[in-house]
Amino acid sequence: VASQLNSSGLLRTQGLIGGKWSDAYDGKTIKVYNPATGESIVDIACMGGRETNDAISAAYDAYRSWSKTTAAERSKFLRKWYDLLMVHKEELAQLITLEQGKPLKESIGEINYGAGFIEFAAEEAKRIYGDIIPAPLSDRRLFVLKQPVGVVGAITPWNFPLAMITRKVGPALACGCTVVIKPSELTPLTALAAAELSIQAGIPAGVVNVVMGNAPDIGDALIASPQVLKITFTGSTAVGKKLMAGSAETVKKVSLELGGNAPCIVFDDADLDVAVKGTLAAKFRNSGQTCVCANRIIVQEGIYEKFANALRDAVQNMKVGDGFSEGVAQGPLINEAAVKKGAKVILGGKRHSLGFTFYEPTVISDVNSEMRISREEAFGPVAPLLRFKTEEDAIRIANDTNAGLGSYIFTNSIQRSWRVAEALEYGLVGVNEGVISTEVAPFGGYKQSGLGREGSKYGMDEYLEIKYVCLGNM
Ligand code: ADP
Repeated sequence: VASQLNSSGLLRTQGLIGGKWSDAYDGKTIKVYNPATGESIVDIACMGGRETNDAISAAYDAYRSWSKTTAAERSKFLRKWYDLLMVHKEELAQLITLEQGKPLKESIGEINYGAGFIEFAAEEAKRIYGDIIPAPLSDRRLFVLKQPVGVVGAITPWNFPLAMITRKVGPALACGCTVVIKPSELTPLTALAAAELSIQAGIPAGVVNVVMGNAPDIGDALIASPQVLKITFTGSTAVGKKLMAGSAETVKKVSLELGGNAPCIVFDDADLDVAVKGTLAAKFRNSGQTCVCANRIIVQEGIYEKFANALRDAVQNMKVGDGFSEGVAQGPLINEAAVKKGAKVILGGKRHSLGFTFYEPTVISDVNSEMRISREEAFGPVAPLLRFKTEEDAIRIANDTNAGLGSYIFTNSIQRSWRVAEALEYGLVGVNEGVISTEVAPFGGYKQSGLGREGSKYGMDEYLEIKYVCLGNM
């Protein structure tokens, strides 16, 4: 796969600074691994603060002209980038499976989803409207202009190597911002391929920059720079808090997508098939490694046994293996550190016979809210089942967490759907659906799950300043 990608120019191993591919200044490299085999794929540049500062300068220079382009021009560039992502869909999907491990079919899904953010941003670029406000005095006219915030630092995780970048960079560029991207060191190759395609799309040098290597050094340089006016981050709550605290020094705008602890509530009046399929999708997508993956499956007592058995059977049928193999539903976990996280185990519960990073899809029955598995994000293919009696119980259990990102309910009652959807302290609620994320809808968390929204028209606001202009003495 690697050599095939090399011939199409999409296998990049250097950072991108001001339109030039660059090694680390001290020549340092790190390896990128295939999580299914543990073999190294390539060595990539291991950058730090110096390269980051140059990338920030390049973004700052490029901002002067990029922010002055018309919306129609930016829209065309983004559309071209989207088209190229789609032309290279197969290769990009292979790259994702190679460095991240998810089944190829899911990787294709991620390209469609991830490229969708660029397409949406291309369309939305033309709809950044201001306002005219009726003036309180007759000789005045009041206007509201929307302007780009400036240079953006975007730090992204490994679970969606393309989509976590495009959902930030698409709207940022559409609004007239320039960016310094720091992809995860575990999955930088997809990010670099996407950056290469941004160049091929004609997006001017310096508008998109990529640095990777020493995460804390790069993060510190982004945070310290007064030229970076916005930090957008997806990743762990601990790192998010650190970036937010660091941003206080220069009062940067901050958007954060942090951890979740998604409840998936199955009521007695749910359609069993819909609930099992939805739960399976919500729990086991990307081997449980998404921040909206169901973390607690909260099931009403009347349907509990039937649901637990049906879920166990469905999970048992999922094929575990290398994401490149036909019919595989569960790839490896990203690395060995991810395997350690673990009631009554009714299926699975240990390392898969394929060994290394493969974990058996697991169902655990009779879990309660106090257990660690209910309190922490598992980020793996482990489905804990909790039992409840009343709707009030379910809501209380579901909201008993500092996180508040994704949530799911299964019921055939319209009244209950609304009641529970309104009561859940979560940014996203799926009713009878296990996969609801799309570029046209807002994604973001309540409580400690984050700040701001990505995707949709709301996601554009994260990259815009509001300017009030008063025209007086008319
Ligand atoms: P995850 O558990 O999803 O890997 P992390 O928060 O560790 O979450 O990683 C998300 C992103 O944050 C990655 O790109 C990672 O390299 C980066 N990161 C980790 N530590 C820091 C740091 N101190 N400063 C800036 N970025 C960091």
